[in-house]
Amino acid sequence: ETVRDLIAAGERSFSFEFFPPKDEQGERQLWTALRELEALQPTFVSVTYGAGGSTRDRTVRVTERIAQDTSMTPLAHLTCVDHSRETLRSVIGSYAAAGVRNVLALRGDPSEGPAAPYTAHPEGLRYAVELVELVKSLGDFCVGVAAFPEGHPSAESLDRDAWVLAEKARAGADFAITQLFFRPEDYFGLVDRLTALGVDIPVIPGIMPITNLAQIRRMAELSGAELPPHVVERVSKHGDDPAAVRAEGIALATELCDTLLQGGAPGLHFYTLNRSKATREIFAGLRAPVGG
Ligand code: FAD
Repeated sequence: ETVRDLIAAGERSFSFEFFPPKDEQGERQLWTALRELEALQPTFVSVTYGAGGSTRDRTVRVTERIAQDTSMTPLAHLTCVDHSRETLRSVIGSYAAAGVRNVLALRGDPSEGPAAPYTAHPEGLRYAVELVELVKSLGDFCVGVAAFPEGHPSAESLDRDAWVLAEKARAGADFAITQLFFRPEDYFGLVDRLTALGVDIPVIPGIMPITNLAQIRRMAELSGAELPPHVVERVSKHGDDPAAVRAEGIALATELCDTLLQGGAPGLHFYTLNRSKATREIFAGLRAPVGG
């Protein structure tokens, strides 16, 4: 099944994102979370594509194992960083051979972070839109792309950023998933700009549950997303009571999800950090039903 067909079936999509584990212990933790979340029958699950050889091999292995050994539909992330066209073709070929039909086509970041200047591989690709074209040319893949409610850190303007997303849709992208964000109006603003450009692909909001302030500050910094004062205030007023901080973070994320779904978002994509508990709590607390 492709993510496109699953979304077209009319139910709201809900999905979980994982990262490739570094070692055996990480692999066990990942599979525990995957099996616990499998019970919720997500629309799809995805595994990020890391920087560097061995994590990349793990991404491919985990994604293939999800396709073969679980009831879940995998979405394989792929980035252009340090890859020639030839290498990208071969990674896409190995996904196809394992029965993976859904690919999230990304540019990826330089090791200095998302705002640093990006240098393409000499025989590689400069922008994600070129990877969308490459994947589409290699078979009947369903292709997703990244979207940025606050604008990509190196985009000139929000309008320009929406134009980039529209270009990716025109190149064949079937849907988009957003970077993490905290203000629903940023998400709705992006959808409005996209609609004004004549593009109507589903844009699935990406949700990062807050379980402690230090962690969310770090994730916001890495992604270039802004941590708004009202979020910091609500979470930090619980000072050093970790259970209360966590409960407030879960409540914040649940409110955000409800507002997004009520406003017409086509689903939710959770950044799980390879743990299942916070995501399951948010999911259980939603007012609007999602999924089939
Ligand atoms: P692009 O769409 O190529 O955009 C990159 C920059 O170039 C933007 O500033 C854009 O405005 C600009 N641009 C694009 N096209 C043009 C053009 N024609 N002319 C001028 N400027 C242009 N990273 C990983 O390394 N691995 C992952 O697995 C991963 N998963 C992600 C999942 C999601 C849901 C999201 C939102 C991000 C993910 N990322 C991942 C991070 C992503 O790789 C970075 O955010 C990266 O900086 C941008 O990727 P992109 O695909 O949006 O690039």
